[in-house]
Amino acid sequence: KQTSPAQTEFYQAVEDVLESLEPLLEQNPHYREQAILARIVEPERQIMFRVPWMDDEGRVQVNKGYRIEFNSALGPYKGGLRFHPSVNGSIIKFLGFEQIFKNALTGLPIGGGKGGANFNPKGKSNAEIMRFCQSFMSELFRHIGPTTDVPAGDIGVGTRELGYLFGQYKRLANQFDGVLTGKGLAWGGSFVRKEATGYGCVYFANYMLADRDHDLKDKRCAVSGSGNVAIYTMEKLYELGAKPVTCSDSSGTIYHDQGIDLDLVKQLKEQRNERLEKYLETHSSATYTPREDYPSDGHQVWRYEVDLAFPCATQNEVTRADIECLLENGCIAITEGANMPLTESAFDTVQESQIAYGPGKASNAGGVATSQLEMAQNASMQRWTFEQVDERLQQVMKTIYKDISRTAEEFGKPGQLVLGANIAGFRKVADAMLEQGLV
Ligand code: NDP
Repeated sequence: KQTSPAQTEFYQAVEDVLESLEPLLEQNPHYREQAILARIVEPERQIMFRVPWMDDEGRVQVNKGYRIEFNSALGPYKGGLRFHPSVNGSIIKFLGFEQIFKNALTGLPIGGGKGGANFNPKGKSNAEIMRFCQSFMSELFRHIGPTTDVPAGDIGVGTRELGYLFGQYKRLANQFDGVLTGKGLAWGGSFVRKEATGYGCVYFANYMLADRDHDLKDKRCAVSGSGNVAIYTMEKLYELGAKPVTCSDSSGTIYHDQGIDLDLVKQLKEQRNERLEKYLETHSSATYTPREDYPSDGHQVWRYEVDLAFPCATQNEVTRADIECLLENGCIAITEGANMPLTESAFDTVQESQIAYGPGKASNAGGVATSQLEMAQNASMQRWTFEQVDERLQQVMKTIYKDISRTAEEFGKPGQLVLGANIAGFRKVADAMLEQGLV
C-alpha cells in the first residue's frame, strides 16, 4: 500500500486472495521463503499510454489507455479491454490480478492481463468509436501478439469495438492472426464466445446447486446489468427452467414478476442502444426504479423475493444491506457473472452466512475459457461447431467447480468456494513460477 497508494479496488482483490491463502502458506512455507506473494502482486509489465482522437466536431480529445501484463507463468497474457469513464490504474490492476487466478482455474495455458481506457462510449457516434479504437490500437499493437498477449472485450468493448481494433492491428502488423478474441464469426471468431460468460455462469450455478440438492427449475432469479454477461445469463436461465425477474443498467432497474422479456432486452441493448426504461413502453405490468430512487444503502435490483442472485454488471454493485435483504428474502445462492461485484462488507456478510456463493474468478471463467478455445481454433485454422464449443465450455465449468470444491474440502472447509478458488488458482501459478526460476 505504501508503494502504490490509492489503489482501493486492487487492495480489495489482493486481500481477498491473501486471506484465503493462510492455510496453504502454513503447510507450504517455501512459497513465503521464495517471496512468491511479493512477486505475484507485482505486474510483470504495466503499459500506460495517451490515446488522442478527434470527435465529430473536429475537436481533439485525449484519454488514458492501459494494458497490464500481470503474469505469464501459465501462458500468454489474456484478459479483456474495458472502455468506461471509471477506468483507472486501480481498476485495471484489480481486474488483471483476478484474471491470473481465473485463467489458472480454467486449466488452459493462459496467463493474466487486463487493459482498457477511461473512454466513455455512451453517446458517441460509430465514427468516433472507430477513431478512438484505431488510436488505442496504434499504441497497443506493438505490445500484443498471438503468443504474447491476447486481449478480449469487457465492459464497453463488444464485437463492434473489437472489429475496429482488429482492423487497425491488421493494418499495422500486416498479419491476420488470433491477436484478439471475441472476434466476429466471419473473421476468426468462435461460436459461443458471445454467450460464454453468461452460459458458463449458469452452468456453474447448476453444479453448485446440484451439490446442495437443489436445481434451477422454477427458481426466481435476480440478475443485474443488461449487457453481454447479463443477457446470456438470462438466456441460459430460461433454457434450464429458471425465471429471471430483474435486470438493470446504470440508470435504473426493471422488475417483472412474470419474467423478464429477454427478446425485448436484446432489442433494446444489442440493437437499439436504448436505456432500460423503454421496457415499460411494451410492458406496463413491469416496474422501473430509476437510480435516484434506489435505497440509500444499496441497489433496487437485490430488493425482491428471489431464490438466486446473479450480479452481472460491475464491481462493488452489491452492498452489505443488499446481501442482508437477499438473505431475508430466502435467496439460497449468489453466482457472480461480474468481477468482484460485492463490496468488502458484503463479501464478509456472505462469508458469515450459509448461502452458496460462486466467486467470479471461478463462475465467470467461461468467457476467458472460450476465448482460449477461439485461440486454439485460430492457431489450427479450424472452426468448431456451436455444439462442440458449448460442450467444451460445460466441461470446463464442471472441472472448475469440482477442482475448487475439492480444494476447499482438502483444507477442511467444504463448500467454501472462495477459499477453494483462491488456493487452487494460486497453487497452479505459484508452482509454475517456482519451476521457471527467479521470474
Ligand atoms: P457490458 O458493457 O456488455 O455490460 C455492462 C452492464 O453493466 C450494462 O448493463 C451497464 O449498464 C452495467 N454497468 C456497467 N458499469 C456500471 C456501473 N458503474 N454502474 C451500474 N451499472 C453499470 O459488459 P459485460 O456484460 O461484458 O461485463 C459485465 C461484468 O462481467 C463486468 O464486471 C466484466 O468485467 C465481467 N466479465 C465479463 C466477461 C465477458 O466475457 N464479457 C468475462 C468475465 C467477466 P450501462 O449500459 O447503463 O452502462
